[in-house]
Amino acid sequence: MDAMRCQVCGHSAVEVGSGRVSWLLTKAVFEATGADSGRTNAPPTCPGCVDDALKQCPMLQDNATLFTMAAAMPAGVLADLYRPGRDLTPVLYGHNVFVPWNSGPAAHHRGALATCQVVHLHGMRAVTG
Ligand SMILES: [Zn+2]
Repeated sequence: MDAMRCQVCGHSAVEVGSGRVSWLLTKAVFEATGADSGRTNAPPTCPGCVDDALKQCPMLQDNATLFTMAAAMPAGVLADLYRPGRDLTPVLYGHNVFVPWNSGPAAHHRGALATCQVVHLHGMRAVTG
């Protein structure tokens, strides 16, 4: 996701000229943090693959919106959280918990097993028409 590659074809999802990144989002994979910003664990989708993505992915068929982004910055991970059990066997106590990079030396990091990256999207514009 750091290279802004399309989740369907693997080519760049960055628009030549504007530098904006094409992204298909649903409520299930997006959390707004401002009027034009938010976090997601979904990778971008290039404009040429939007139709295929919508046809092939059942989750995207449920209210997907196409956006372009000015920037996407690493924000943290979704992780499963473990703590030592009685015999030091790891015990799961949190599933798909957002662990931000800027949380400092939080206790979550010690027992976190990351499952996917989360990026913070900035300068979001809905694509209409
Ligand atoms: Zn593509």
